[in-house]
Amino acid sequence: MTHQWLTALPCLAISGTKRKGRLAIEKCVWCNRSDGYLEEVTVEAPDRFGLNRGGKTMTAHPEHTSLVHNYYSLAARVAKRYVLVMVIAGVLALLGLIPLLMIDQQGGDIETWVKVIYGPLLLPVALLPVLLPFATPETVKWIGIRSSLLLVRLLGLGLLGAWAWWVLLMNSS
Ligand SMILES: [Zn+2]
Repeated sequence: MTHQWLTALPCLAISGTKRKGRLAIEKCVWCNRSDGYLEEVTVEAPDRFGLNRGGKTMTAHPEHTSLVHNYYSLAARVAKRYVLVMVIAGVLALLGLIPLLMIDQQGGDIETWVKVIYGPLLLPVALLPVLLPFATPETVKWIGIRSSLLLVRLLGLGLLGAWAWWVLLMNSS
């Protein structure tokens, strides 16, 4: 869930200024370039909540249309479960903070709690974006599918690194 907020932030900042009075330039939804011949592709594109909103028509280079189809057929298959897992993991991560803070305050065994319960609980939040790097529809529109896959994967790897550093390398003090 976190990565989706993060990737949506720059778009929110830009969408306000970019839309005003400018003609929308057709570009390839995969590589984000507007040069060359572009053809229309209709795909079943899930929205940010993972719900199917029916067919959406976009433009892509002929050599990129099969990649666009592959991306959206995977997205349509897993989107609902993906969003559900991220929401549940996010809520559990927040709930898990309560006992974490309580144990910390009482000077208890925080290392065991983190390594055995809280750490594994946080893992899906970091791992899912690496395995299935879906960005929000706004991000895809802004930078294209190819760059959004890379961006989300990098953010996921960052989270995974932070997770490993915190959970696996934690020392009891
Ligand atoms: Zn393209």
